[in-house]
Amino acid sequence: MTASDTLYDVIVVGGGNAAFCAALSARESAERVLVLERALEAEAGGNSRFTAGLMRVAYDGVEDLKRAIPDLTEDEIKRTDFGVYTADQFLDDMARVTEYRCDPELTEILVRRSLETVEWMRKKGVRFTAAWGRQAFNIGGRFKFWGGLTLEAVGGGPGLVENLTQAARKNGIEIRYGARALELIADDDGVRGVVFRQAGKKLALRARAVVLAAGGFQANPEWRTRYLGPGWELAKVRGTRFNTGDGIAMALAVGAAPTGNWSGCHAVAWERNAPEFGDLAVGDQFQKHSYPWGVYLNAEGKRFVDEGADFRNYTYAKYGRVILGQPGQFAWQIFDAKVKAQLRDEYRIKQVTKVVAGSLEELVEKLDDVDKTRALAELRAYNKAVRTDIPFNPNVKDGRSTDGLAIPKSNWANTLDTPPFEAYAVTCGITFTFGGLRIATNAQVLSTDGDPIPGLYAAGELVGGIFYFNYPGGTGLTNGAVFGRIAGASAAHRN
Ligand SMILES: Cc1cc2nc3c(=O)[nH]c(=O)nc-3n(C[C@H](O)[C@H](O)[C@H](O)COP(=O)(O)OP(=O)(O)OC[C@H]3O[C@@H](n4cnc5c(N)ncnc54)[C@H](O)[C@@H]3O)c2cc1C
Repeated sequence: MTASDTLYDVIVVGGGNAAFCAALSARESAERVLVLERALEAEAGGNSRFTAGLMRVAYDGVEDLKRAIPDLTEDEIKRTDFGVYTADQFLDDMARVTEYRCDPELTEILVRRSLETVEWMRKKGVRFTAAWGRQAFNIGGRFKFWGGLTLEAVGGGPGLVENLTQAARKNGIEIRYGARALELIADDDGVRGVVFRQAGKKLALRARAVVLAAGGFQANPEWRTRYLGPGWELAKVRGTRFNTGDGIAMALAVGAAPTGNWSGCHAVAWERNAPEFGDLAVGDQFQKHSYPWGVYLNAEGKRFVDEGADFRNYTYAKYGRVILGQPGQFAWQIFDAKVKAQLRDEYRIKQVTKVVAGSLEELVEKLDDVDKTRALAELRAYNKAVRTDIPFNPNVKDGRSTDGLAIPKSNWANTLDTPPFEAYAVTCGITFTFGGLRIATNAQVLSTDGDPIPGLYAAGELVGGIFYFNYPGGTGLTNGAVFGRIAGASAAHRN
């Protein structure tokens, strides 16, 4: 192994959103900051690069949003109802979807510092806009945002990573690509550097502090099966192939405490024939998130989940697990022509497994691997159960439900009666794992004895204790940014 004499102030392990926020923040008060990214530059940027760049922040109106999007025009403001998404609403959403398990102190920081953190990112060079395309409905010529998710990075995930990388370069942060961290150098006084492999050589670099931001373990089928449970090796990975739990393993090896929902993860409906890992050319478009407007059927021809239980932002992250639990680990989403215009853009890509039919009888014949007789009976029973006396309204939980079904549809229940009918085959796509390292409010990693580990900080996907069971859409990037920024600042001040 080659050891260098260079002493870095801060080494950041990882090359996604949390890592770059940590590096940029550290650089505000530290001279020598290094980013070690496992991927080569062509595949760099982690899961952050695969995202739509949506970020959930608390805001009290358009004036707050302008802190992130100063170039909002008067015309855009006039034709948009941005509403508000208060800190209390964000806190309530976190508590509700995590079934009141989320760490109260960390969650409070995540929420209260969300807006100021995106403003800070903007000042570093990240550009934001409003997510008119995906998170708002056009009602009578005016856009109305729903679900509290209003902000997105210009250029989505690729734009976000590009802007962060440029900002890092501009600020004199060194980046090494193809540099896979292997272990932490630690002694009785804590962490003192990182051992990594680059271009086939094992190298060691010393640092006054290390920030781990190397993602979860979702791309590691063995850990998935070990911690999430049997069957999880069969899920597709939505994003980067590089998040195999290295950062977590390195920290545990020096005595860090594991915490959070180790058997839980974010997983969604994902194109059935998608590749094993994410494809940067397709990004997040393999996802299929318009199920609230239709119904699901499994291989037995049965509905198995309440497609309209809540807004999609609050159900999509837990329904991947439900699909994985179906026979054959797949399902079909079925829509009729009435809702076609409402289907999200991801339904119009080339790489979909889709069938179209002029009648329900014809449709069920075309559903591969499905019990046709039961499927037809199920769809007819569903149609009969729809409360057509309640008007359909996609902007609110409209209460247009089914009546008397074993598995109800609680909102947006539309009859399937208008051809052409369309069906899309999906399986489970895992996004990221929820279990990880225990950190203090300054992002310092805590040991199994409950003490802070000197010189070790963590942020992003590999931190545990924040998400359990489910997740409010757009919180992953905000989480990485808020705690990345805190971790970088804390690491730079290690004395
Ligand atoms: C398809 C998709 C869409 C998504 N959409 C959104 C969205 O719109 N909004 C949102 O908030 N969240 C979204 N998410 C979730 C979001 O991507 C994550 O929550 C967030 O990006 C995590 O950031 P991170 O920096 O912690 O991890 P990552 O961005 O994954 O970065 C981890 C980095 O660590 C590197 N690494 C791993 N091991 C090592 C090692 N041993 N040494 C050195 N480097 C290492 C990886 O190469 C990578 O660069 C989406 C995820 C996916 C997959």
